[in-house]
Amino acid sequence: MPEVYNWQLGRKMNYVFDEAHPQKQFVAIFNINRCIGCQTCTGACKATWTFSKGQEYMWWNNVETKPYGGYPQHWDIKILQKLDEAHQAAGQKAEWDTAQASDTAPYGVYNGMTITEASATANEQALGYIPLDTEWRAPNFYEDTSTAYKGDRLGISPEGASLPEHQTWFFYLQRICNHCTYPACAAACPRKAIYKRPEDGIVLIDQGRCRGYRKCVEQCPYKKSMYRGTTRTSEKCVACYPRVEGSDPLTEGVPMETRCMAVCPGKIRLNGLVDIAADGSWAESPQHPLYYLIKTKKVALPLYPQFGTEPNIYYIPPRWAPRAYLHQMFGPGVDEAIARYTAPSRELLAVLQLFRTTQRMIFRYEIEEGPLVLETEVNGQPWQMYNDTVIGFDAKDREAVRLTVIEPMYERPVERMNSI
Ligand code: SF4
Ligand code: SF4
Ligand code: SF4
Repeated sequence: MPEVYNWQLGRKMNYVFDEAHPQKQFVAIFNINRCIGCQTCTGACKATWTFSKGQEYMWWNNVETKPYGGYPQHWDIKILQKLDEAHQAAGQKAEWDTAQASDTAPYGVYNGMTITEASATANEQALGYIPLDTEWRAPNFYEDTSTAYKGDRLGISPEGASLPEHQTWFFYLQRICNHCTYPACAAACPRKAIYKRPEDGIVLIDQGRCRGYRKCVEQCPYKKSMYRGTTRTSEKCVACYPRVEGSDPLTEGVPMETRCMAVCPGKIRLNGLVDIAADGSWAESPQHPLYYLIKTKKVALPLYPQFGTEPNIYYIPPRWAPRAYLHQMFGPGVDEAIARYTAPSRELLAVLQLFRTTQRMIFRYEIEEGPLVLETEVNGQPWQMYNDTVIGFDAKDREAVRLTVIEPMYERPVERMNSI
């Protein structure tokens, strides 16, 4: 099997195809701390793409409540268990060596096996399973269900909650297809019906070639390829590719954020395209907001990087959840990401304002310095806030958005007080 370089693992790994990379990659960041679980994103995708017969149980975007929720039910627990069993059988440990962290291995080196490397049989490309029909029946199993406080008969903490870890907790996990760099779905397909577009790295299923063998459903570790009984083909998130191509007249030909990103009232999402160098690394672009947040500041992390598909949706982890749980889910960068997010630098605070503020994808930002507005302490350290202005530019380098750190306040005139 060919070897490819996975920068999220800090090492080479086995993959079915030779290393090949797109010129640009579709990337998004979801800030878990801000999600209100409103499912507007879920509804927007459903209303746009999966409203037809045979797609009733197909939720390309879903928001599940962790730790208990999942769509399909228990998808991550099941694949983690398989991976764990494979490690035990091989006498290996799925550990990270963070001492080897470097520019090309920002989280250190993963010394365990990926789902491809742990694959036990010759006729499967990666560890996987096909969920039961009952596991797909609802996208919101255990919605808003928290863990119980263990020290009390009623499951309620008498002390209440405080950071860094709440005693009872849940958080929302927003999920779409990760448009992986090394997609397990494409590796699994015996018909070679799944391909990664060279212009933007979006992963699509050719409906003409698909014969519904469901190998992609089986081997996508994130379970984001779904089978449609009425057409006997598999379908998945298409990354709203007409919007990414810039064919919508609304944005005058420049790439737009996808539907699920653009509707988010919690302003948790930032979506764009990053430049990819010939060797698969991200071309240096310090003023690109996604490059800055993922590569420079490392506040946004990949979901289950140990699976080895190099997912391209990143998450700012929730500040209040147990660290061991978050380490398993987002890898060893969690503590640094949370520390930086909790006490953001002046530049980071300004860049964080760009989330969900324009439908146009932002390719570059600039910051104009403003006055000091707050001096306080965060985590026992002095911290200052400045009312800087951040400006985002679109693909044609035109100003797309301009925001200040302090949101301006508008008072409704007295004569219009009750005029809604
Ligand atoms: S998340 Fe799954 S369906 Fe999407 S590209 Fe990765 S392996 Fe394929
Ligand atoms: S990117 Fe588009 S197709 Fe994919 S989940 Fe979001 S709305 Fe649906
Ligand atoms: S629309 Fe935004 S805030 Fe609402 S559930 Fe989706 S990601 Fe969360």
